[in-house]
Amino acid sequence: MAEYFEPYIYISVLVLLSVGTSALTIYAVSTGRGRGRFLCQDCRFNNATDCLKDERPMAFECTSYRTREVPSKLKEEKREKSRHQI
Ligand code: SF4
Repeated sequence: MAEYFEPYIYISVLVLLSVGTSALTIYAVSTGRGRGRFLCQDCRFNNATDCLKDERPMAFECTSYRTREVPSKLKEEKREKSRHQI
């Protein structure tokens, strides 16, 4: 036999869920990577030939995001290679 709750309980749960998800979204946008800027501004694929996503150039979240800057460890490795080649 199925038990049902009063309608106000369902409504209360829905309101709490919507408030919670809204708060999480606001928190993620305000503190996440990019902090209010669009990810595409710093992405190495930010041109029409390398990125065909509809979100470009105003993506807040993107799994294909790659920074334009080369990590410092890679920079050092490149410098070392160029020194050995001379
Ligand atoms: S890969 Fe993602 S972050 Fe980079 S330009 Fe395209 S949409 Fe923007």
